Amino acid sequence: MRHRPEYKVVIMGGGGVGKSALTVRFIHQIFVSAYDPTIEDSYRRNLNVDGITVALEVLDTAGTEQFMSLSSLYVRSGDGFLLVFSLTLLDSVAELHTIWEQIQRIKETTHGTAAAARGGGAGARAGAMGEKLERPRVPVVLVGNKLDLQHERQVGREVAVNLSRSWGGVPYYETSARKEINVAAIFEDVVRQMIKADAFA
Ligand code: GDP
Ligand code: MG
Repeated sequence: MRHRPEYKVVIMGGGGVGKSALTVRFIHQIFVSAYDPTIEDSYRRNLNVDGITVALEVLDTAGTEQFMSLSSLYVRSGDGFLLVFSLTLLDSVAELHTIWEQIQRIKETTHGTAAAARGGGAGARAGAMGEKLERPRVPVVLVGNKLDLQHERQVGREVAVNLSRSWGGVPYYETSARKEINVAAIFEDVVRQMIKADAFA
């Protein structure tokens, strides 16, 4: 399948949900328990998915994206997104709404021609309203992290599944950066989506 030599994945979500822990686990195969929350960094790694090797740039964002202009810069530069919340903090789910809406807004306009070719505008609007959409055209994975903290869990699986449905069926994974559960899987999934999105472009 035709694909670009490099893809950029942007990790977004509230503070403390484990964005850096997931990124560092994926890049260096270690768990860091005290990562500077203000550090924002980008990393590179090759990843083989279904026999295709792609170069990945991973951008681990920090709190600074409260400044909307910076956040929109991230969204513009990303080919795919991991939207992370913590299973131990219900509020961290709500924080993803504005990020999701921003991704839709920015990517719908930049991918306007592709949307139009599929009879687009109405579908795009329906998607933004949380109604049915064939498939998400922007590669996104919804990630509930800290699965290992079972006794502190606040977010039920059904809450996240409902959210992923309202987003047109984006894939949902429960992960643990600490116990290395589903960390590779979330990156592989978004890479598959990015390669597929290329085929549509
Ligand atoms: P970020 O602000 O989203 O980048 O969050 P961090 O990656 O800095 O993680 C915030 C805190 O949660 C740190 O103390 C991490 O050690 C901890 N943490 C991150 N992921 C996990 C996980 O999967 N399990 C557990 N138990 N702790 C985690
Ligand atoms: Mg961080």
